[in-house]
Amino acid sequence: MSDFIQLLPDNIANQIAAGEVIQRPASVVKELMENAIDAAATKIDINIKDAGKTLIQVVDNGKGMSEADAVLCFKRHATSKIRTADDLFALTTKGFRGEALASVAAIAHVEMRTKTADAETGRKILIEGSEIKLNEDTVCPQGTSFEIKNLFYNVPARRNFLKKDSTEFKHIQDEFERIALSHPDIHLTLKHNESEVYNLPSAILRKRIVNILGPNFNDRLVPIEENTEIVQLKGFALKPEFAKKTRGDQYFFVNDRYFKSAYFNHAITKAFEGMVQHGKFPGYFLYLDIAPQKIDINVHPTKTEIKFEEEKFIYSILLSSIRLALGKYNIAPSLDFERETSFDLPLGMGKQTPVEPTIRVNDNFNPFATTTKSTSSGTGKATDNFSKAIMDQGFGTKETDSADWENFYKIEDESPIEEENNAIPFEDFKESETTFIIKGNYIISSSKSGLMLIHARRAIEQIVYTDTSNRFVSNPIESQSLLFPIEKEISSNEVNYWTENQSLLKQLGFDGEIKEGTLHLKSVPSVLQEESISRAIDELFATLAYQDIEKGEIAHAFIASIAKSASMKNLNLSTNESIQGLIDQLFQCENHAYSPRNKKIIETISLDEIAQKFA
Ligand code: ADP
Ligand code: MG
Repeated sequence: MSDFIQLLPDNIANQIAAGEVIQRPASVVKELMENAIDAAATKIDINIKDAGKTLIQVVDNGKGMSEADAVLCFKRHATSKIRTADDLFALTTKGFRGEALASVAAIAHVEMRTKTADAETGRKILIEGSEIKLNEDTVCPQGTSFEIKNLFYNVPARRNFLKKDSTEFKHIQDEFERIALSHPDIHLTLKHNESEVYNLPSAILRKRIVNILGPNFNDRLVPIEENTEIVQLKGFALKPEFAKKTRGDQYFFVNDRYFKSAYFNHAITKAFEGMVQHGKFPGYFLYLDIAPQKIDINVHPTKTEIKFEEEKFIYSILLSSIRLALGKYNIAPSLDFERETSFDLPLGMGKQTPVEPTIRVNDNFNPFATTTKSTSSGTGKATDNFSKAIMDQGFGTKETDSADWENFYKIEDESPIEEENNAIPFEDFKESETTFIIKGNYIISSSKSGLMLIHARRAIEQIVYTDTSNRFVSNPIESQSLLFPIEKEISSNEVNYWTENQSLLKQLGFDGEIKEGTLHLKSVPSVLQEESISRAIDELFATLAYQDIEKGEIAHAFIASIAKSASMKNLNLSTNESIQGLIDQLFQCENHAYSPRNKKIIETISLDEIAQKFA
């Protein structure tokens, strides 16, 4: 019997590969721009005709290619970027597959000119359907220029599937913008049919975003920054009021590479919860920096899906730092979408940029401080006052002196807007000197526009939650090592949960080892008292067993349960000052409308409604 199997000729193999890498003109633009960036270009000019169907020209001032490389670069699996399989796990370049140029050359007419800094002359190559038609010396500046013509000339199915020019150009623009947003330091230009679409000089990130999205975006950006051992996060979120009906302005980048992630997007949506109207999407430009070994870019041929080793930890960091940043900048109460008359901002105020008030957290303050010093559990180092407060309130049995509440936050400087506009709700509220409390829980206060009711326990829950999760972002929750490790038998599922979530658990203050199905706990969060440890671990495992999408919220769920316990203790809100103090702090929380478990904290009754009752 004769043999049937044959190796495919190169040009056919390349055409097949091209099907994966090059789907439309925008893919070519992306690949060529990425190559230019990998070649250390500081300027890249792109010139498009008829949405790329007639011409895609990309000119860079990068390091160029030698005479030999200029030919080799069109071979499949020809790459200068990785040499060993190990390099795949430590990528610092955009490209690595060595497929893009081979693919483009298989399905288009390509003209390339390239010159290195030390070469006397440049090189010009014409290649069509993987066949080199011309290879000669040429005069050209340092760098590389590509002209791609007749894309898909030999793949009619693809060519016929291309959409109308406006759609295809939109795709090109999207790719261009993603790269522009990830490399603000590179001067980029884009022309379509001879008219300039973008000319983006090298700039800092904020400037680059504004150059792309328009000058009015400058005031809408809330800076985000967070550094942990595993991930450095920076970028901007758009203020909640600029959330859009479409997903338009949502950008994630990792190590300067754009990616999509429904999972991380969920964290952001969660962070905006209660601030964005239902059905609207918050905007963000977030940049993660992670050791390349901890991500896997190889998942997807066009590389917009990326696997993260520490995804739950990153989820948590995203959620916390965005909540924190929104809280800092969102000084005006964020209830206006509820259209409560008493919470409406004065006309025109929405146009002003709120100035961030300087709020100093008084580290020495203990809202739950006992008048007699509380005895520490004696197992570890001293905890800070707030942790002790939680310990006392949440897990201890101490009496509290609630007058101390007021000192928790000291407002050093009120924002000028607040000074000028007495009408903002909190100020309005503050004018009411008298408060009542019924059943030890429902605070009643009059305001200019009616009555305000506050659920005191939920308010405390929210305050403790906000403070603890804000601090969790920048510092791991303080941990204390146990003199004698606690042993706890755990199930095989729990073994997996524990090992999968190492960094998150460390950040939460837990450290331990698993030996033969038994967890040996070496350190626990300082906020826990010994008798609460076992229950806390059970709760933690219960949270770890949630649906996958929820897992990144472990930290928050855990902090929420601490906060819940804190709110269950004796409140002792007997004086007007203590109640006012509580309200002050509530309004310092970015989200003062709902508790961590999404229960309403504030209710208002307008004068109209009161009048109605007497009608
Ligand atoms: P990859 O980027 O995955 O390595 P490509 O097919 O995109 O594969 O490119 C192949 C090789 O050609 C690259 O590794 C690089 O050495 C070289 N190359 C491509 N474009 C450029 C450019 N604009 N400037 C300098 N070298 C380039
Ligand atoms: Mg490439």
